[in-house]
Amino acid sequence: MQEKTYCPVRNLSKLKHEFGEYGGVNSSIHASTTFTTLDPTTMENIFQGESEEGCYLYGRHFQPNSIQLGKVMAAIENTEAGYPVSSGMAAISTVIRQLLKTGDHVVASQDIYGGTYAFFKNVLPKNQIGTTFVDPTSIHEIQNAIQENTKVLYLEMHSNPNLKVLNLSKLSDHISPDITIIIDNTFTPLTYTPKNLGADIVIHSGTKFLNGMSDFISGIICCSQTFLQELMDLHTGELMLSGPTLDPRSAWQLQQNIQTLPLRVQEHSTRALNIAQELESLNKFPVVYPGLPSNPDYEIALEQSNTDYGFGGLIGLDLETQANARKFIIDIQEMGWGFNAVSLGYYQTLLSISGQSTSSEIDPQTQEQMQLSPGFVRISVGYKGNPDDQITTFSQTVKKL
Ligand code: PLP
Repeated sequence: MQEKTYCPVRNLSKLKHEFGEYGGVNSSIHASTTFTTLDPTTMENIFQGESEEGCYLYGRHFQPNSIQLGKVMAAIENTEAGYPVSSGMAAISTVIRQLLKTGDHVVASQDIYGGTYAFFKNVLPKNQIGTTFVDPTSIHEIQNAIQENTKVLYLEMHSNPNLKVLNLSKLSDHISPDITIIIDNTFTPLTYTPKNLGADIVIHSGTKFLNGMSDFISGIICCSQTFLQELMDLHTGELMLSGPTLDPRSAWQLQQNIQTLPLRVQEHSTRALNIAQELESLNKFPVVYPGLPSNPDYEIALEQSNTDYGFGGLIGLDLETQANARKFIIDIQEMGWGFNAVSLGYYQTLLSISGQSTSSEIDPQTQEQMQLSPGFVRISVGYKGNPDDQITTFSQTVKKL
């Protein structure tokens, strides 16, 4: 196994601290939609594509709070650049639209967030862009799906909802450099650094773990400096011209909340592992958690993960029937240990039946093919409450089924 030397938090701590106006320990919110360049020549230069450091034009173009947040995310993901957008879906659609033209082709995992699946399946064909969906664990299937016009390979590190672990370091060795590998790392920030494993672009739904408070929607694109400039080009850039801009207040808030991400991820991961171990020991229902040594992907997860952040806060629990799944969720909710809600990365536990919610866009035949059981409950383990009481509650609720 290769030695693990990469530490995203060390990268983060090297960033220059941005003080606020008047010496505030927190940076300021730059709530302006437009900026004076003072000198008309400077404005002309910006419109000619020559940006000057520290010189801004308009809030939909580069903006100070978004630039600061982008630097934080680039440090975490070890990419040259980063930039926020208004949602995770905006990050996905903006990057895809920038990279593809009519007639191009995508290879994507069939086991991805339902919204992403629907975007590829139902929206891209309007531009004659086809997608072949594949099993992300089969390098052979992925290679076979690649066509002459394939421009993008789109995958998630831990698949949603089945939590299969992508063997990205192995896969990327088999993919031509002409194909852009995009990785959605929403489920596993800090646990994996996809860029180090061969990704070209890393995207996040900032709505989830990065922010952690489930109070606003956001997305992040981590990429090369050149690609960010392309996205922001005044005449051709998807970020500039489709306009999925993140409000400066949200960019500021997300940057603040990301400072506690390492602590939160550690706690989410520790609790998820402990609950998964307890539920597995009951020997009643299959438990899916890549951090369990019994998980078929455990070695792959271990090999690719950074140290200290565990294997993420999401567990899959296959309760076999929808009736069991409903009862389990209601019981946990009534005891005050979680909510029946989509999304993830919140301090409270969130539970949903994947096949009938966030993966309902995936047709029943494909759900069956990807072995998504009707009783599969996705649990985003929160860190509210005493950890021992939390384990006991989950254990007793499963025992009652
Ligand atoms: N990627 C994953 C893995 C998700 O789970 C989601 C949303 O649930 C998204 C992307 C889309 O993010 P957003 O809801 O911020 O648009």
